[in-house]
Amino acid sequence: MTPPPEQKLAWVQGILREFWQDSPANSLHLPQEEKAWDWPRLAVAAGNDPWFARLKAMIGPFYWTPEEAFALAFPEAPAAPAELSVISYVLPQTAATRRDQAREQDLPAERWARSRFFGEQFNCALRLHLAETLTAEGHPAVAPERLPGFDYRQSERFGLASNWSERHTAFVAGLGTFGLSDGLITPWGKAVRFGSVVTKMALPASPRPYGDDHQAWCLWYARGTCGACARRCPADAITTAQGHDKPRCHAYIREVTTPYTTATFGTGATPCGLCQVKIPCEARVPL
Ligand code: SF4
Ligand code: SF4
Repeated sequence: MTPPPEQKLAWVQGILREFWQDSPANSLHLPQEEKAWDWPRLAVAAGNDPWFARLKAMIGPFYWTPEEAFALAFPEAPAAPAELSVISYVLPQTAATRRDQAREQDLPAERWARSRFFGEQFNCALRLHLAETLTAEGHPAVAPERLPGFDYRQSERFGLASNWSERHTAFVAGLGTFGLSDGLITPWGKAVRFGSVVTKMALPASPRPYGDDHQAWCLWYARGTCGACARRCPADAITTAQGHDKPRCHAYIREVTTPYTTATFGTGATPCGLCQVKIPCEARVPL
């Protein structure tokens, strides 16, 4: 049953945490049972936060606002932006996965490959579970990344880009800022994955401690120091001059890490993430 307004955020957190605790999908599927992720943390963005329209203007007309994603799921009953809340959550990598990955130089560790494959399957189930639970409780909700129309297009300004970005949504919700490698630095670091759900429910928007400064928590952008993620990349796909070279990164993942993890661990997906560990922002805000 839906709680009173002041307890709604804790109620949503409880839905996430319970599924994280109980779902058999939250597993690395190793011989010993081990969860794919540390427990999820969430924040909320207002459906009418001006950043959503700004992102659409920057990325391209194909990019969805929360209102547009919601209307795709509920065409008979669309909602105004002000009626919507966007729940964004972080799934941090476990300490064991980060430790293993930090030992690697050129190829992802087995735990990392498993979290990218099995862990993302769990993340997809978590998105759907949250949306379905909220909808069943009278708060229509959709996980935009799970919509049939979710895909990747060419953005004039950013190259290959999806029509809903979990990282950008997390930024708007106050969960972190972008680093030199393009990853989002959160209070639990950059070795994380994200999910989000748009719902017709009034939830208090979370504070955005960095205001509009989308690179505030990266040492390179804030102080001109660090650059550790660039040194960690085996493909030279990150430079302090240019930031993240997406085509170069994707080529390395397509040609090197994916064939390796598929053949070695039998996992699919597209893992790499060497630039997400053994760096000052691995598991915290480095400033
Ligand atoms: S490793 Fe350093 S330069 Fe790279 S994103 Fe983190 S803080 Fe920024
Ligand atoms: S994901 Fe891998 S290839 Fe891409 S930037 Fe990070 S370390 Fe380099």
